[in-house]
Amino acid sequence: MMRMLPALLASACLLSVGAEARGAVGGGPSLAEAEGEGGRQLGQIGKGLAIAKKAQDLRDLQMTDQEEQELGAAVSERIRTRYGVAQDAAVHRYLALVGGALAQGSTRPALPWTFVVLDTDGVNAFAAPGVYVHITRGALALIKTEAELAGVLAHEIVHVTEKHTIRAIQKSKAVQMGAAETLSGSAGLMERAVTATYDNIVERGFGRAEENESDEKGIALANKTGYAPQGLGSFLVTLKERNKASTEKRGLFASHPEMQERLDRLTKQIASQKLAATATLQARYAKNISYKPMPVTAIATIEAGAAGLAGDEKKADDKKAEEKKAEPKKRGFGLGRMLPSGGGEKKQAQVTASGGARGVDPEKDSKGGSNPKPVPVKIAAADIAAFKKEGGLP
Ligand SMILES: [Zn+2]
Repeated sequence: MMRMLPALLASACLLSVGAEARGAVGGGPSLAEAEGEGGRQLGQIGKGLAIAKKAQDLRDLQMTDQEEQELGAAVSERIRTRYGVAQDAAVHRYLALVGGALAQGSTRPALPWTFVVLDTDGVNAFAAPGVYVHITRGALALIKTEAELAGVLAHEIVHVTEKHTIRAIQKSKAVQMGAAETLSGSAGLMERAVTATYDNIVERGFGRAEENESDEKGIALANKTGYAPQGLGSFLVTLKERNKASTEKRGLFASHPEMQERLDRLTKQIASQKLAATATLQARYAKNISYKPMPVTAIATIEAGAAGLAGDEKKADDKKAEEKKAEPKKRGFGLGRMLPSGGGEKKQAQVTASGGARGVDPEKDSKGGSNPKPVPVKIAAADIAAFKKEGGLP
């Protein structure tokens, strides 16, 4: 039974709340040596040298907005390579309009926000630093209204505007830099930062505090844009049912208290902040999105161990060979992720510590498409204005 747990806890963003204190990756900074040969007379000078040496030593990752976007672009490329991109211009345009309307009301409206539809049945969403919000085809298939989509996208947007990923990798000490180093000036450092960021977004997920902040600020943002703030909770309930059905069959984990807490928190906030926007736009959503959901147990997955790195191995042009080789392994056994909300800190720490022993999580380890090419969308402010007007958004 314990072996099953990790699959429930591992995950990304919206679908799981990880531990607040994830295990640190890599060691801390190597401190400057004490002023060894300083001697009594040279004590003061020695101290000064030690401080100077320390300053040249490793420091937490620093970056400008421009570097944050470069990092995000590289991480997005890795995510796109891992899951593939749904080559559907109309869907990308619709996503860019909903996402664009939300981003306009965010705390970082001027960023070149990019919304990407990942070509996989797994239900997931990932926010990469800078300006990249990814949502899977599987998630879009499960979402029922534009308000639900707005709830999910707004949650992801807040991960970006609040720089959750940046803070997480800074905290982890996984990527440190020399005092004279810059992220864009060091290919090696950028590579390490991309890997740490990808791992944080796709494999580990954010901590509970970050998820709560994204929930809270996200539904406020959706509401401000005119969408019924119940959208996020409504989608989370769908996810809960989805996972319940797949786990109850095996008599495991019939309920999970953390999910209810999360939903209760949303309900309370809507009441206390009097969030009263009403647009759900179910018909417009149905008109634009026609993907069909795939039950958790029917999702084709790739090997768990390969999931994090699969992107590097995949080639965009050998789709057929790939499909043959990785002929969907139907894991009727796949436990899937129980809930959007993860378990306790201790369990998560075990997961982190035991790494490879982790089980397969169909929503995250789902097989992806083979085409990583972005689908470019040109959206002007006037397009967003027209889109909002058509939907009756303020
Ligand atoms: Zn999240």
